[in-house]
Amino acid sequence: MHDFLYRDGELWCEGVPLKKIAQEVGTPTYVYSHHTLLRHFQVFDGSFRDVPHLTCFAVKANSNLAILNLFARAGGGVDIVSGGELFRALKAGIEPEKIVYSGVGKTDAEIEYALEVGILMFNIESTQELNRINDIAGRLKKKARIAFRVNPDVDPETHPYISTGLKENKFGVEVEQSLNLYRQARDLANIEIKGISCHIGSQVTKLSPFVDALERLKLLEKRLRAEGICVNYLDLGGGLGIQYRDETPPHPNEYAQALIDAVREMEVTLIFEPGRVIVGNAGILLTRVLYTKEGPIKNFIIVDAGMNDLMRPTLYKSYHEILPVMREVRSEKTVDVVGPICESGDFLAKDRSLSVFFPGELMAVMSAGAYGFSMSSNYNSRPRAAEVLVSGDKYYIIRKRETYEDLIRGEIIPPCEKLKEVT
Ligand SMILES: *Cc1c(COP(=O)(O)O)cnc(C)c1O
Repeated sequence: MHDFLYRDGELWCEGVPLKKIAQEVGTPTYVYSHHTLLRHFQVFDGSFRDVPHLTCFAVKANSNLAILNLFARAGGGVDIVSGGELFRALKAGIEPEKIVYSGVGKTDAEIEYALEVGILMFNIESTQELNRINDIAGRLKKKARIAFRVNPDVDPETHPYISTGLKENKFGVEVEQSLNLYRQARDLANIEIKGISCHIGSQVTKLSPFVDALERLKLLEKRLRAEGICVNYLDLGGGLGIQYRDETPPHPNEYAQALIDAVREMEVTLIFEPGRVIVGNAGILLTRVLYTKEGPIKNFIIVDAGMNDLMRPTLYKSYHEILPVMREVRSEKTVDVVGPICESGDFLAKDRSLSVFFPGELMAVMSAGAYGFSMSSNYNSRPRAAEVLVSGDKYYIIRKRETYEDLIRGEIIPPCEKLKEVT
């Protein structure tokens, strides 16, 4: 459920007509509903209220400061995958002791930064990373709290690009290997073992892969305990899917019930790293039709948002529902909705049956709150879109539209007399 609904044939976000936002802020613009964001966070977090847990929103799904701040105020932590995300999280008011740090390629500088601010734990993905973190912690006279990210080898049955918990994926370490890593870690002076983590993939729409993964983590926890290695945290990652089209993902309450049942007898705090399920359906991309064009085989609607603004359709072949902001009774046509970018992969929808659009009209690309703006780029030197947060009958610009000056910030033309001439 979300708060983008029609009133008298016109699409609103909460108490604000999208047309008003388009007129005053321009297009393309990401629009988020504060009410949906908060409710999604509270429903997810609340479904685990009976067990010790921490909900760490995955910053990469949507990293806007205003949105992170909203979760901080709701008591949430975050899962980060870079120093940049750590910087954002701290700026947004997330407490360091609620931050977990995932990712296969943490640099020395990023590790130092995270140790200095005192994050909850690193989810370590290799032996070399373990030793690196131990060395750096020693140098800084700190103890690094860690978990190993294990690869439970379960098939999340999702798109291959967002499947991460299979043997062939680059993420995590095998369960058997991890035993050795835990033994190594126990003997390192600057390491404090805190947990076991995993993340099996994204847009998972069944419960069984999560339950299977948890069962494997539980077995590992038992084997570790037998060797005197005790963990306080089981981090089950993110990955719960949402409805883009006709998927029927489990409700967070069902997800929680299945997992709580499996850990009832354990004395651990559960950590979750949800991204998409919190923000996905809380945001849309508002775009305006520039032209329509009839080709010999296909009909096109050319809009002012492109693959640089929303990469998911071309990267994952993902489906985003498209709604007219002003709903009129019109005939339908099969069209490709494409952007202005010089790439054939620049589309938001393919072979979609939509009611006819005319130039100047607005459309809403639905379910764009996760991996939308955060994946956007400046390709074709397009300033990135504005972001707007609606709350009740008010809206707030939470990221200004980029300007041409923003595009070239940091670029330098070297003095021409210093450049070698071609001879
Ligand atoms: C991407 C990611 C998440 C969030 O995934 P969602 O599918 O958006 O819930 C959580 N944890 C890790 C380690 C990730 O890489």
